[in-house]
Formats: sequence, structure tokens, C-alpha cells
Amino acid sequence: MKKVLSFDVDQTLNVAKTPIPDEIAELLTKCLDKFEVCPISGQKFDQFLIQIVNRLVEFGATKTQLTHLHLFVAQGTQYYRFNLAKNDWEQVYNYPLTDEQVAKITSAIKTAATELGYWEEDKLALGDEIIENRLSQVTFSALGQKAGTEAKYAWDPDCKKREKIVARCKELAPEFAYEIGGTTSINAVTPGMNKVFGMTHLLDELKVAKEDILYFGDMTQPGGNDYPVVEMGIDTITVRSHEDTAYALRGILGVLK
Ligand SMILES: [Mg+2]
Repeated sequence: MKKVLSFDVDQTLNVAKTPIPDEIAELLTKCLDKFEVCPISGQKFDQFLIQIVNRLVEFGATKTQLTHLHLFVAQGTQYYRFNLAKNDWEQVYNYPLTDEQVAKITSAIKTAATELGYWEEDKLALGDEIIENRLSQVTFSALGQKAGTEAKYAWDPDCKKREKIVARCKELAPEFAYEIGGTTSINAVTPGMNKVFGMTHLLDELKVAKEDILYFGDMTQPGGNDYPVVEMGIDTITVRSHEDTAYALRGILGVLK
């Protein structure tokens, strides 16, 4: 029997960049009684709180239950867990990029997107940004963070625009690794700083084996940001949306009743 359920976030637990829906919040809260629950995503800690933690608390997750929730932030280059004694989340580790690395990646992505006609600053909401420094990675979000879900879905449904940007970035700054994720995003990291890094640390921190983990992701195809997990040999369920994830979780929890 699996000990750990690990989840990609965007498109696996939610509609990209929005709080998880009621059904997922309810199911994940139940999972905390049976499993260690480990979301891993390119997003920042504050987004994990907004999108996941606060929703579980709304659905009655107790502090003891929260100790079974492990947040692998920025593709697992940062790890947070709930400390009961402190009654707060604590950062266990953090592996940030240097300022120089951030500057080089930012320049490569901006150049690539501009050359290809995909640098659409005019479409941004006020105060929004296309490129965001997430400390352990730099993230390109074509329409910014605040764009509507529909616009995001429509921007690059077949990933072709992002594949072109990535191909050019690999020429401009080949020392970094680029992954397509979410609906409009590209994450740039130092090689090896992908979900393999996060999952390897997860194994270490939770003292479990690969076989103990079941992973859910929507980008498990080669080049997708969940693919490194597949390559590691971790059992993976490919989902199209949070509805698929809910379906699978209902099955898992139903069997355990
Ligand atoms: Mg995803």
C-alpha cells in the first residue's frame, strides 16, 4: 500500500492558479488521515497557502492533519511543513538561484519571446509581470499572473508557442533547463532542479521509498513538467483535470473504507 500521495497542482488539483475546488478540498482532507500528502508545483509558498492549505482548513482540516501535508514549493526546491509546537509552517530547506542566474534566464526568455512575437506586455493587467523570480526558478507566464482562465487556456492549448520559446532559450542560455507547465508557463531552473530534485528530497525527508509514492500529474508526456517523475520510476496517474484526480481519489478512499 502507498504511504504518500503526491500531486502536481496546476490542472491536477485545480483550474490553473485558482484555489482547489470543494470536492478536491474535501477529498484531500480525508487523505490526510491515511497518507502523507505532498503537493509539488512551480508556484510560491503564498500560492500554496491560498490554493491548498486555506481550502483544507475551510473543510475542517485539523492542525494534526496538517502535519501530514508537505508543501514542495518551487518544484520542490523549497520544502515547508506544519510545525505543531510553533503552530505555523516552517521552511525545512531552500535552494535559491543566484541573482546572476536570474538575470541571465530573464534576458533569454524575454529575447526569445520577443523575437517570436509572443512577448505580449500590452495584454497585462496593471502591475502584473510576465517573468517572475520565484527564488528557486524563474517563471514565464505569457499573459501574466492575473489573466483570466479562459484567456490562458486559449493562448497555447497545444504548447506549440512555448515549445518554440523553449527551443530559442536553449540556444541563448543552454546552461539552464526549461519546462512547460500550467497553461501559459515556462519554468527555467538549473539542470536537475526539476521535480526529480523535489521528489528525491521528498524521499529523504519523509524517509520513504519510490514504491511508497503515487504521483498525480497532467503533464506526464516527454517535455512536460511532470515527466521527470515518470522517468524516476515513480507510479504515476496521468489526469486531464481535477475531475480525473477526484475520480481516482474517490476510488482510493473508497477501497480504504
Ligand atoms: Mg500541471
